[in-house]
Amino acid sequence: MNKIAIYPGSFDPVTYGHLDIIQRAVSLFDYLLVAVVENPTKKPLFCAKERVEMLRDVTSDLKGVEISCFNGLLVDYAKERGVSVIIRGLRAVSDFEHEFQMALMNKRLYPEIDTIFMMARETHLYLSSSIVKEIASLSGRVEDLVPEVVAKRLYQRFNR
Ligand code: ADP
Repeated sequence: MNKIAIYPGSFDPVTYGHLDIIQRAVSLFDYLLVAVVENPTKKPLFCAKERVEMLRDVTSDLKGVEISCFNGLLVDYAKERGVSVIIRGLRAVSDFEHEFQMALMNKRLYPEIDTIFMMARETHLYLSSSIVKEIASLSGRVEDLVPEVVAKRLYQRFNR
């Protein structure tokens, strides 16, 4: 039986931190569904279509990765796609409380589902989409934090 996992998130935009989790998760599972939350509660800088395009661009060399987009409850989408493992990345302790709450609630809503947490790589511990957006908006360099195609889109968005 193929082992399938889902990696959900806003990916606004995808960073080297996300990419690292994706690369490590594909080596653990046969198939990885990276699922972009279409309307995250945080107001996104990039629309869902752009976030999906960037993810497709940066994962094009990886086998067994599908980039998709969803609306509504994650557990409903996971059920629809026949997936029972959720992958989430953990950085500092600050991620823990929120992630723990979501994992427990998802389990309550869909008892067959399990959440697996992957530790962020040491060099990516303080890397987040929001900090990248902040740096780009203040004319800073983001090439070390996101793939080149993403950096270009950020610079375009902030008129540089
Ligand atoms: P969300 O809004 O759902 O948290 P994000 O796009 O911010 O969406 O993050 C998606 C997932 O990737 C989350 O599990 C988050 O903890 C994880 N993640 C974000 N940045 C990193 C990073 N630098 N290293 C490892 N995991 C990360």
